[in-house]
Amino acid sequence: MATVGRVKLVVQVKLLPTPAQATALDATLRACNTAASEVAATTRETGCYRNYDLRKHVYTRIKADYGLGAQAAQHVIKKVADAYTTVKANLKAGRYGKPGSKRRRKVETDPIRFGWNAAQPYDARMLSWQPDARTVSIWTTAGRLKNVAYIGSADQLKTVATSKVGESDLVHRDGKWFLYASVEVAEPQPFDPAGFLGVDMGIANIAYDSDGTRHAGDRLNGYRRRQQRLRKRLQAKGTKSARRLLARRTKKEARHAADVNHRIAKTIVTEAARTGRGIAVEDLTGIRERVRLRKPQRVTLHSWSFHQLGAFLAYKARRTGVPLVEVDPRHTSQTCHRCGHRDKRNRPCQETFHCRSCGVVAHADHNAALNIAHRGVEGWGAVNRPHAASPCTQ
Ligand SMILES: [Zn+2]
Repeated sequence: MATVGRVKLVVQVKLLPTPAQATALDATLRACNTAASEVAATTRETGCYRNYDLRKHVYTRIKADYGLGAQAAQHVIKKVADAYTTVKANLKAGRYGKPGSKRRRKVETDPIRFGWNAAQPYDARMLSWQPDARTVSIWTTAGRLKNVAYIGSADQLKTVATSKVGESDLVHRDGKWFLYASVEVAEPQPFDPAGFLGVDMGIANIAYDSDGTRHAGDRLNGYRRRQQRLRKRLQAKGTKSARRLLARRTKKEARHAADVNHRIAKTIVTEAARTGRGIAVEDLTGIRERVRLRKPQRVTLHSWSFHQLGAFLAYKARRTGVPLVEVDPRHTSQTCHRCGHRDKRNRPCQETFHCRSCGVVAHADHNAALNIAHRGVEGWGAVNRPHAASPCTQ
């Protein structure tokens, strides 16, 4: 496999600690984050925001008070410095309201507080991987834990086993433990495609490809509607615990949607790679403005990101060496994929395409996907036509 460069990515594995190991991980995360909140307070008091300067003020103290090792103490300090950098950038971007607003003033003056389970970075000296045994050895405040088992998908396991793992984050979520490992992998040279698989993204069907495969959104849309109702109830309640529950549900819903998008992107990229084809998708810029929707659908669109599926497709295609082109999406739904005749009346209803010229009948989304596939071939040809851009070549 010819490679064209290296790409950084984050691989998630799930830890399966024994109860005793989980207790040690729990105590460690609590110690690191209590220390982080203390460092964050000192940062505000001293006005000293730079990682290196901050170290002089707090390093010895947090090491002694919280039983942190040298590396852990340094990572805690860096985590605080990074968090303030993020807040500063967000302030600059106006994400906490206008200057002088109550919310903004609070963000400007209050120290950052870290939840007990905020993610904690680990470097190679604090965490080592034994991929054959599928275990890690990890630093904790109770000493080094050996043989902490982990699991993951075949893909994730292979990636951590075969790549150099840089920093990892220890994450506690919904009572489970994870490591988010940063790795660098080789990026393959895209192959020369034998045709294109067109992908039409929609609301009712998240995606419909030009082979006629429907990547359904029914269950996801149903799930979202249920979540929406629950959210409304919680919003109406307005209590602190309701707000907290609401924030948790929103996060969970976003993870679920991302999971569905990941699976769809994977299916499409795998199929394109298997058949030696490239992928053609509509250019997603401004899709929100373009898509005109009936009211109940508008709600789903807002909590749904086409861009996410587009981004996942692009990312997975690049990692697999599948060429991907973005095409002009105009009139793909009104144009006949067989004869090219374009007419609004070709689309008598949401579901159906019926060409008024040649009489072809197809599912409306399938017809659009076929048009996108055609445009993919044209787009690819325009970019990669031999000698087109180099008149000097003999
Ligand atoms: Zn036709």
